[in-house]
Amino acid sequence: MLPVDPKNLSSPLVTLSTMSTIVVVGAGVSGLTCALQLAKQGGNTITVVAKHMPGDYDPEYTSPFAGANVLPMAPEYNRWEGETWPELKRLAETCPEAGIHFQKAVLYRRAQDEAAGFAGPLSDGLFVRNPWYKDLVPDYVDLPASEVPEGMSSASSFTSVCINTAIYLPWLVGQCRARGVVFKRAVLKHISDAAKLSHTGRKPDIIINATGLLSCRLGGVMDKKVMPARGQVVLVRNEATPNMVCTSGTDDGNGDELCYIMQRAAGGGTILGGTYMKGNWDGVPDPNIATRIMKRAVEACPALTGGKGIEALDVIRHAVGLRPYREGGVRIDKENINGTWVVHNYGHGGWGYQGSWGCAFRVQELVDEIKSELKLGSKL
Ligand code: FAD
Repeated sequence: MLPVDPKNLSSPLVTLSTMSTIVVVGAGVSGLTCALQLAKQGGNTITVVAKHMPGDYDPEYTSPFAGANVLPMAPEYNRWEGETWPELKRLAETCPEAGIHFQKAVLYRRAQDEAAGFAGPLSDGLFVRNPWYKDLVPDYVDLPASEVPEGMSSASSFTSVCINTAIYLPWLVGQCRARGVVFKRAVLKHISDAAKLSHTGRKPDIIINATGLLSCRLGGVMDKKVMPARGQVVLVRNEATPNMVCTSGTDDGNGDELCYIMQRAAGGGTILGGTYMKGNWDGVPDPNIATRIMKRAVEACPALTGGKGIEALDVIRHAVGLRPYREGGVRIDKENINGTWVVHNYGHGGWGYQGSWGCAFRVQELVDEIKSELKLGSKL
């Protein structure tokens, strides 16, 4: 048996005696990354069906609203984040058309948040001292006291990336299409509706469920552990600093507000965030929250407006995206529903991009297990 590299299955080491028919439900970062990984594998005929596609803006379609950057959140080594970083780094280095660039991330810790064990939104493993991910990302350092602003107890920085989602999502679609993946619009009432949606007309062997937040309403799934974590942001034309900034908490929020700034690649504007409001379905930007977000951003980074305050912010849009939070964590597993195998990949909360490739690799392993059970393919 020749060795098979699971991350490079376009290699001729894998041959399949029959093509597998796969329908991916969902065209957010999770569904698109899975579709691309399975298309790279070869031997799969793939249809992506979705209610929303890149280019659409609807708070329930989370992916376009993300910053998106890499700020690892898992409390300890995590396969999803650990295996995604090398791929995003590779794209930032070698693939300008994907819309990803390197940015230094600076994390500021407040003393009260540290004393509380960083229990605030998003801060699970991100702000702890000496985190596991210091060996993953380049250049992780604790900043000297002279670089720690008043009111903060400490700060660290590392090299990260910022993804322009308006470029990256269509790029993923293009990469899929170049490998024969077919895209269709459809709104499913039940996950088994996908059995009729392959462009081949055949019943799919495997359905991938990447429906994000709406998995809580999709028949056959109806996952009650899934709920929104409302993210309000302001996108501005102002450019601040080469650094992305994120603080461990805010003085004027309700414990579900954050201060972060990141500049998207390729003229994508600067994202000012934000909120992480669990259970809140409100898709309309709240003007009071928007004012707080902008005030905090210009305080944390006066260079944004040359010291002129929030009036000098040049707003592109106010927006809300609903993160697919899942109590107990992401769901990546396989289940036989009405006689067809379904591989679930949903519930990524605030880390869907920074875990996207690791999750897609796991989905591919589950697909391979099913294929081998169904005797759909054979490996050399
Ligand atoms: P979605 O993008 O919501 O896609 C779901 C897909 O399923 C859509 O195509 C939808 O139409 C389809 N669908 C659902 N139900 C049905 C149905 N019944 N029939 C047909 N199709 C259906 N993550 C990071 O990694 N880094 C960040 O910096 C970051 N920042 C964020 C900032 C904000 C403000 C927000 C809101 C999120 C942020 N995230 C970030 C989180 C990230 O955006 C999400 O984890 C990720 O987008 C989830 O992607 P998804 O593909 O699972 O879901």
